[in-house]
Amino acid sequence: MAIQWFPGHMNKAKKAIADRIKTVDMVIEMLDARLPASSENPLLAQLSKGKPKLKILNKQDLADPERTTIWLNHYNQQAHTQAIALDASEKGATAKITQACRQMMPNRGGLDKPLRVLICGIPNVGKSTLINGMIGKKSAKTGNEPGITKAEQRLFLADDFWLYDTPGMLWPKIIVEESGYNLAASGAVGRNALDEEEVALALLDYLRRHYLILLQNRYSPDKDPSSHWDDVAWLEWIAQKRGARLAGGRVNYQKAAEVILTDFREGAMGRITLETPNQWEQWLKIARKR
Ligand code: GDP
Repeated sequence: MAIQWFPGHMNKAKKAIADRIKTVDMVIEMLDARLPASSENPLLAQLSKGKPKLKILNKQDLADPERTTIWLNHYNQQAHTQAIALDASEKGATAKITQACRQMMPNRGGLDKPLRVLICGIPNVGKSTLINGMIGKKSAKTGNEPGITKAEQRLFLADDFWLYDTPGMLWPKIIVEESGYNLAASGAVGRNALDEEEVALALLDYLRRHYLILLQNRYSPDKDPSSHWDDVAWLEWIAQKRGARLAGGRVNYQKAAEVILTDFREGAMGRITLETPNQWEQWLKIARKR
């Protein structure tokens, strides 16, 4: 699949993060709860080695709650790591985060030892939404497409709690094929950078195997699809259902792809998570053999 990356931006972010990390006590890594492993940034793992880390599984309202619990347990077993699930726009999100950080760093606090935290996340994970909620106004740009993140800013969440927002852009690194599709399905890589039909087919293939009921409820197939419908059959059915036709009655695959992707991004089918720790392990194994 063709996704365009911007190594120049990444190098700038890398340098800025490497400098900032030396002066902070811990790191918050925002992840997308629907694709926790795919939305990680391996570079961050490398740069923040040894620092306590709070992983925020954001957009939990869109993610499968059972799988969110599995991911939280998975991360909570890792050294120096704690994980919480969040909806960035929920009331009390800031308190939830500051509380979790303070618990992790009981020796920091008070004016002489402020708790200094760096927050990182790939585009579209919800960082601006969270930060806007923290500062109580609409200053950071938010949107459904990956935006441009500007210079570093420091927020005083309390006299003794300083939050540094990562300067520059931290892009995901696609290690396994599935993570590319999952990032694309979530909207993290920008609409123009991908072939929507290919992404929609990959999404349908996953959903028909793991969330068949949700697919059935949303698109009410006229026959039992469980045994014989593959990803293409599903895309064609969605096209038919939504009147996605070209001249001469041909299937408009592009339009049908947009329907399924928009439905997924908006949570219209229900709460869905595209990977589990076990699946991720399997995908990694396969990718390493290639
Ligand atoms: P950023 O690129 O990390 O700064 O991401 P944004 O804050 O711009 O968020 C990207 C999109 O995700 C926006 O449409 C937000 O409204 C949406 N969003 C952010 N956090 C959440 C969340 O917890 N739940 C839901 N449902 N949407 C969210």
